[in-house]
Amino acid sequence: MFFDTHCHLNFQVFAGRVEEVIAEAKKAGVSHIVVPGTDIETSKKAVEIAEKYDGVYAAVGIHPHHVYQINQKRSAESERIRNQKNSDRSDISDYSGLSEIEKLLISNKVVAVGEVGLDKHEYKKTVYNVHKVYKVHKEFIELQKEFFVEQIKLAHKYKKALIIHNREAKKEILEILTHHSSLITYHSVFHCCEPDEKLLEFAKKHKMFIGIDGDINYRKDKQEFIKKIPLELLVLETDSPYLSPERKFPNEPKNIKIIAEFIAKLKNTSIKRLIKVTTKNARKLFFNN
Ligand SMILES: [Zn+2]
Ligand SMILES: [Zn+2]
Repeated sequence: MFFDTHCHLNFQVFAGRVEEVIAEAKKAGVSHIVVPGTDIETSKKAVEIAEKYDGVYAAVGIHPHHVYQINQKRSAESERIRNQKNSDRSDISDYSGLSEIEKLLISNKVVAVGEVGLDKHEYKKTVYNVHKVYKVHKEFIELQKEFFVEQIKLAHKYKKALIIHNREAKKEILEILTHHSSLITYHSVFHCCEPDEKLLEFAKKHKMFIGIDGDINYRKDKQEFIKKIPLELLVLETDSPYLSPERKFPNEPKNIKIIAEFIAKLKNTSIKRLIKVTTKNARKLFFNN
């Protein structure tokens, strides 16, 4: 049975269809799905879905992209405080939302903190770019780092796995992980891993998992990369609604079968063995068994 380790059933595009999408996934042989949050609202939604359906689990966290909003709020607030000389200095952590994330970690259907990390990509169509202001500046990256570290600490505190999102920021990610390696005692995954030798080397050294998605079906660099990944570090994910193996939107968890068949060929192994090993890896990652 397949284990989709990263699937955003909590996103708007699946509203009203969640039950149907899960049923179709089950029919295609998907026994487990992990739904990661990207901000407070989608984290809450992930928990809600996980608590409703068997075989569905949640991860909760604030994605580096969404730290942008918090950065804007923080700047506005410090401006306000600067202008009102005698006002109380309110705690900036009030704006982080991390206490909300921490509350969600109590649910036993929450298996990980995620997705969290760093993202230096400048998104043109992001919701934060309505006034064409979305810039990845130094202050924003520093705040992303702060959030990443705080959420690594949460994963450690609540003994949950860690789903790491990295886009164009591997140097900083590896610095932070190296610096906090004593906290990464539970299992973690480089979700949608960039094809990169340094990330692979780090994953091997620290026994971290590597998540592979449907874009492998058309990305030559990823097809080369997967040949170097030891099978015992590999987990499958769809990242639905994105990264469809057939470049369709929305992607769905049932498509994990297409990804698995493609990878089995590249790894010169049987589909049966590939499913068995990747599902075992995913169980180890999230359930520690
Ligand atoms: Zn991601
Ligand atoms: Zn994601």
